[in-house]
Amino acid sequence: SSAEPRFKRILLKLSGEALMGNGSYGIDPETLDRVTQEIKQARDIGTEVCVVVGAGNIFRGLKGAASGIDRATADYMGMLATVMNALALQSALERIGVHTRVQSAIPMASVSEPYIRRRAIRHLEKGRVVIFAAGTGNPFFTTDTAAALRAAEMNCNALLKGTQVDGVYNADPKKDPSAVRYETLTYMDVLRQDLKVMDASAISLSRENNIPIVVFSIHSENALVNVLQGKGTCTIVSG
Ligand code: UDP
Repeated sequence: SSAEPRFKRILLKLSGEALMGNGSYGIDPETLDRVTQEIKQARDIGTEVCVVVGAGNIFRGLKGAASGIDRATADYMGMLATVMNALALQSALERIGVHTRVQSAIPMASVSEPYIRRRAIRHLEKGRVVIFAAGTGNPFFTTDTAAALRAAEMNCNALLKGTQVDGVYNADPKKDPSAVRYETLTYMDVLRQDLKVMDASAISLSRENNIPIVVFSIHSENALVNVLQGKGTCTIVSG
């Protein structure tokens, strides 16, 4: 596994669910450790890595709003939950020797750095993994959009979306055994067919900035490093 990585700098989007394992809430320690191994391997082949983490495993704004919390307030609660996931990820990465910084879009000086674009770039250049917490810092957005935004700000060569399946299919592969995985798609395919890759604003932002989106399974071993070395199974969304 010495092949040159095909992308020099990537943004990895992890949904909160990626840390949840088989549970229905919170962070599963084994799953967390597995995911951090994937990140370490990507670092070890020289890829610069930044991460945006979601919070669906803890709190979602829409669900909070449905239960009666003011929508914007519920969204802020969701953003705060991403900070918890970011700190868990940081701890797990540092335990295996990966240097990290957490930068939060909602300043929280006692537990993380504030988001400062040029400082984040410097961290990446020094080989640190930068974990972006609190999404975009604005209610009514998602961490998918935050991922597309930070990928553009960090001049990333690709946005990697780690999911539960190894790409985008024409039907749900868990229900339909004849479902076929797309090798490639265009941004417009995804928007027109409303394929569940990332939300439409994330797709549009990636399209405007010409950043390919690579959808792969974060749960199969070595998946990230394989994708980075052009060997893995994935779907690539680009122009
Ligand atoms: N959120 C927000 N603004 C952002 C990013 C996230 O308000 O820029 C809130 C929103 O309520 C969302 C929650 O944080 O439901 C958790 O993020 P998301 O649902 O994107 O997490 P994921 O689905 O990736 O686990």
